[in-house]
Amino acid sequence: MKLKNFFGHLHTVNKHRWYVFKLSVRAGIPVRGLLHDLSKYSPTEFWEGVKYFDGKVSPIKICKRENGYSKAWLHHKGRNKHHFEYWLDLTTTDKTPIMPYKYAVEMVCDTLAASMVYNGKSWNPTIAREYFEKRTDKEYINPYIQDFLLQVYRQVESDGLKKTVNKKNLKNLYDKCVLQKNYK
Ligand SMILES: [Zn+2]
Repeated sequence: MKLKNFFGHLHTVNKHRWYVFKLSVRAGIPVRGLLHDLSKYSPTEFWEGVKYFDGKVSPIKICKRENGYSKAWLHHKGRNKHHFEYWLDLTTTDKTPIMPYKYAVEMVCDTLAASMVYNGKSWNPTIAREYFEKRTDKEYINPYIQDFLLQVYRQVESDGLKKTVNKKNLKNLYDKCVLQKNYK
């Protein structure tokens, strides 16, 4: 175990959680922000993160590339409701169930924070939207939730973080993109 990797990975996790927490407070889900990604400190997730620490690319991605799967990710997605993969179930009618509001908003905070941590000073408001549109796994995200995410990222791009990431605005968007369509 390299000490540099140990502290590097620990710092990345802490920094990510701090960014998510700040966004979650603005978004009106402070408790989710506090609890966000705590399983990353569990041995299964933490030591794999140290082993494949890189600083620029997610260690989970590197581990998957080398081994075909990542035990840290399987552990993580099974416990963290802010990932659409948690809800994915091939034997339900929808296969991609609708994520409840607080977890969908936690996902917004998570993806925005991740784009900030990985891009550092070169972060700009188009990055999250571009990253979302390039995703090749969108078919596994519920279509209404996809719409909600895209509207949020587009608004970040046009109106900035402050106008977008707040309780009132996110509730409105979720209502419009998810709830109203679902019960019509
Ligand atoms: Zn997570």
